[in-house]
Amino acid sequence: MWRAVTNSLATMVNKKKRNLEQNSLCTICGTEEEDVAHALCRCPHAKYLWEAMGNTNAISCKPDSNWKDSDWILDISGRVSKEERMGLMMLLWRIWYVRNGITHGKAAIPVEVSQRFIISYMASLLEIRQHPNANLIKGKHVVQYGSSMPLPRQCKPSAESSSWIRPQEGWMKLNVDGSYYPSDGKGGTGAVLRDSSGNLIFAACGVLHRPASALEAEMVDCREGISMALQWTLLPIIVETDCLEMVQLIHSDEKAMSDLAFLIREVKLLLKGNREIVIKKVSRGQSRDCHVLANKGRCESLTAFWPDDNCNFIPHVLGADE
Ligand SMILES: [Zn+2]
Repeated sequence: MWRAVTNSLATMVNKKKRNLEQNSLCTICGTEEEDVAHALCRCPHAKYLWEAMGNTNAISCKPDSNWKDSDWILDISGRVSKEERMGLMMLLWRIWYVRNGITHGKAAIPVEVSQRFIISYMASLLEIRQHPNANLIKGKHVVQYGSSMPLPRQCKPSAESSSWIRPQEGWMKLNVDGSYYPSDGKGGTGAVLRDSSGNLIFAACGVLHRPASALEAEMVDCREGISMALQWTLLPIIVETDCLEMVQLIHSDEKAMSDLAFLIREVKLLLKGNREIVIKKVSRGQSRDCHVLANKGRCESLTAFWPDDNCNFIPHVLGADE
């Protein structure tokens, strides 16, 4: 799957082959032709992230200066453990994502932010691997899905979920919801993107190992949710959250002095891009399935992404009766 993805990456070399560009030089560093290997390994921003990951020992292989195009990807992924392979895929995906941001005129995402993102992703995979039945055996993993929020077992829209409101035509709606339990210090994130017909575009959940607060869990979720949504749609996006404090912080012109200042800045940067993105506060019932996802991420230490309607524990279509 990844091979198919990388062979068709819109690098300058591939674009020139299709006569979409005059020359194939990397538009970021201008030092080399941008084939897949340059974009994912040799361009300075890619090189720094590889180095940062190498320093954590999470990724043992190092990029080779002889690598061309994308053949090396299968080659190295065959040589490493399952966990490292997932980490590698995440690393390459992240590098491509950062590259797209830069080529679209956005500020480069700091290496430390990407590094943290990949490590937390790998840590949760490892935890799942080591404790596959954790939610059955280990008491601390068993957490109810919130007293006010029963886990929907049906795939069809339920009465509760119909309170989600479709975005107007030509818009996408992203619901985000963070989850945080001070007692064990763990947090979770949930994000759901739907179109104006209520169809699921993607659902995602994640685990946060030590968020400082519920607000931090919400902010991280918001940032990751918007970042993902930007990759999955070209339409303007309305973002809904039940966290009023976050909406106020994002809309405030004052420079935030809190520990969350960097997160607020990152979300604001995402909003300043070319895409129209509106954030608003809604009642909790309007993002019910997101809440389920955030709890799932936290309770099961699960980082997962379901494109289209592959997530089978939230409704595939919402708001069809409106
Ligand atoms: Zn470059």
